[in-house]
Amino acid sequence: MRWQNQTLDADDGALPGLSRAGFVRTVETPEFEGITFHEVLCKSALNKMPENSTLPFQWTINPMRGCSHACRYCFARPTHEYLDLDAGRDFDAQIVVKTNIAAVLRRELGRKSWQRDPVALGTNTDPYQRAEGRYRLMPGIIRALTDSGTPFSILTKGTLLRRDLPLLTLAAREVPVSVAVSIAILDPELHRGLESGTPAPRARLDMVRALTDAGFAVHVMVAPVLPYLTDSRAHLDELFGAIAAAGAASAVAFPMHLRGSTRGWFLGWLAEAHPALLRRYRQLYGRGAYVTPEYAAWLRERVTPLLERHDLTRNGESAAAPARGPEPHERADTQLALFA
Ligand code: SF4
Repeated sequence: MRWQNQTLDADDGALPGLSRAGFVRTVETPEFEGITFHEVLCKSALNKMPENSTLPFQWTINPMRGCSHACRYCFARPTHEYLDLDAGRDFDAQIVVKTNIAAVLRRELGRKSWQRDPVALGTNTDPYQRAEGRYRLMPGIIRALTDSGTPFSILTKGTLLRRDLPLLTLAAREVPVSVAVSIAILDPELHRGLESGTPAPRARLDMVRALTDAGFAVHVMVAPVLPYLTDSRAHLDELFGAIAAAGAASAVAFPMHLRGSTRGWFLGWLAEAHPALLRRYRQLYGRGAYVTPEYAAWLRERVTPLLERHDLTRNGESAAAPARGPEPHERADTQLALFA
């Protein structure tokens, strides 16, 4: 395995290679069958966004690399290749965990130069994936951000967040805290095929309700919308209806992107599960990563009135779906400040 000389721009720079990042050990336990954890001691916790970024935050934190939520369409898959791991099963099952991230973060936030800019979690991989149940990194991260007076946001599909809801509620009394939940699929079979490691959509809707009841204005990312699979008016109407019934303040929908090795991993599934759609996907995406502008405009026209009908535009922003909108774990620059 080559764990060095990486130039990963989507992560926090704390893992330029396990050797430099302080590899500690590899762990496999019966409670997490099929998953291997690579524990590292990171050197930095805060990742500065590129100067030209249009997202509404300048800093991110990524406690892990790889994601056991295993979404077939995950845009972050290619980042695993920098570790000489593959973007398919290894991304789902070989998880790098920065076990000292809370302590390192607290040190960084304590610097006199820290300006208390908003920090986003969930922009690359999901901070409430299964590994968080074992490592419990988020409570320390939340406390460090709160104690330093730093606003922060979390995007997740992980219902494990409910464990930290009391802590988040306390944090929100001290600093601005935004929570967003990603729910793109209602159909059980599609969920099993495409997001096999994520909590069921119903459980995520219940989490939206719990967050709402705790006082958060929850934003839901209906992302990605899968052409010909989840873009029917009936599916979107049912999904937005369920999201609204769960109490969400707002939602947004984006078409799927298929960048780099994610494209092959997704199309491999499509060829098995829905072979009749392969040709149409190739037409829609061509050789690139994005849907055609025509499809994006079509989806925008479909989504906008449905969001209005379900009163899911309460953050006052347009919920339109741009041709090149954010990834599953990114937030559009016009949306509530942040992922996952
Ligand atoms: S889309 Fe999000 S939840 Fe799914 S595998 Fe990627 S990081 Fe994890």
